[in-house]
Amino acid sequence: MKLILLGPPGAGKGTQAKYITEKYSIPQISTGDILRQAIKEQSEMGKRAKSYMDSGSLVPDEIVIGIINERMAQGDCKDGYILDGFPRTLAQAEALSDSLQAYGGDIDFVIDLKVDPDQLVARLTGRRVCRDCGQMFHVEYNPSKMMGQCDKCGGPLYQRDDDMPETILKRFEVYNQQAKALEAYYSKTGRYKSVDASGSLEDVRSAVLEILDS
Ligand code: AMP
Repeated sequence: MKLILLGPPGAGKGTQAKYITEKYSIPQISTGDILRQAIKEQSEMGKRAKSYMDSGSLVPDEIVIGIINERMAQGDCKDGYILDGFPRTLAQAEALSDSLQAYGGDIDFVIDLKVDPDQLVARLTGRRVCRDCGQMFHVEYNPSKMMGQCDKCGGPLYQRDDDMPETILKRFEVYNQQAKALEAYYSKTGRYKSVDASGSLEDVRSAVLEILDS
């Protein structure tokens, strides 16, 4: 199964992707995670991406399209994948369609997680991420059992630099500039479904799995 998760920062794409990965045994491909790893490793790509990410802007299309093409060619993607945070622009969506056509595949579902904007700031400022395994928590809605420590692997939790209030507003602005075009693009394919993602993690998970099992 090949799946795209769309939605604003804080909609829960990463969290839902992790549930789907467990149930369907397909990898989650998060361009944000790949870029953060590249920054950590101080690779050339990481150095190029850092200033865009720190300011809440999009990393140039050619960098993220290159990342996706390379990642999708790996063996663990042969039975499908979940794209989390890609595509974010029309040019990325078109490049993805071209790559899929070249390999003779297609996306099965595009799920757009819709959340009331008022909720998003609280979700992002309270988010904490495990530095070792990437598991996500929220200080209020989904706290770890031991403060500052990951339940899954015991790694240290941290707050992403771009989850600070000033950068969050920029990220929303960037998202809003692209969202309508992506929705229109995927609505035409007949694979687009929107899900109300304002509820609890469990409710959203059930709604998403219901679509995937349909
Ligand atoms: P995320 O972890 O998905 O919230 O992404 C964090 C940041 O990484 C974004 O604010 C962008 O700067 C960058 N990024 C991730 N995915 C993309 C993408 N598909 N296109 C451009 N920039 C991206």
